[in-house]
Amino acid sequence: MGLAEPASIYETSEPVGIRDEIDALNIRFAGATAQEILSFALSERFAGDIAMVSSFGADSAVLLHMVSGIDPSAPVIMVDTGKLFPDTLRYRDQLVEQLGLTDVRSQKPAKPVLSEADPAGMLWMSDTDACCHVRKVVPLEEALSGFGSWISGRKRFQSATRSSLPPFEYEGGRVKVNPLADWTAADILAYARDKDLPPHPLVAQGYPSIGCMPCTSKVKPGEDARAGRWRGQDKTECGIHLPTLGKELDGSGI
Ligand code: SF4
Repeated sequence: MGLAEPASIYETSEPVGIRDEIDALNIRFAGATAQEILSFALSERFAGDIAMVSSFGADSAVLLHMVSGIDPSAPVIMVDTGKLFPDTLRYRDQLVEQLGLTDVRSQKPAKPVLSEADPAGMLWMSDTDACCHVRKVVPLEEALSGFGSWISGRKRFQSATRSSLPPFEYEGGRVKVNPLADWTAADILAYARDKDLPPHPLVAQGYPSIGCMPCTSKVKPGEDARAGRWRGQDKTECGIHLPTLGKELDGSGI
């Protein structure tokens, strides 16, 4: 792609024994609650070396609420692609204030990178993989450069590619923690109702999965929740959850 990024950010070395530890953690935490997994990750094993990554989308309030209950000062990273719905930015501000989160970081694509790769801001029309790469993957990698681990809100029910998602993974030189891996859509709804969490305003308008404005469309009754993401394209992930994150710049693919 020809982007001039410092190579050091993408160099990773695998800690000795990390994959054995991940296997052991997945056995130890099989059947554990999301709060138990989160508490262990935030307060014990990865304390001080972990950030939560949130899109402040349709399901995000649940995990953010849990994090705020364990450590409201935990770093939370949001990648602001510059193409998000204004509703998402307002929802972020609402949740941050309501939950008392004190370290929420909005990471934007660097201006020189955008000037080179997407000067007109229309790259999404011709090459969504490249657009996701410069607007999501690269900024997230930069935001995570000081962390050895991160928390994601992915769930197994969301797609075929996530159907065997474990609570702990080691990918791209970092540990990824998925506390909600075995949660269902009904679990999410029940928790949100029980805690009286505000819904993302676009959910009621027909958007059960919310990404960037140009690449998110309404979902019809009976359709998969993520059917409105990159509709009509052979694309289901933005690239931040591919193993290439943290390894190299030319393998793009929320
Ligand atoms: Fe670009 Fe669309 Fe990816 Fe957002 S979701 S970064 S607009 S291609």
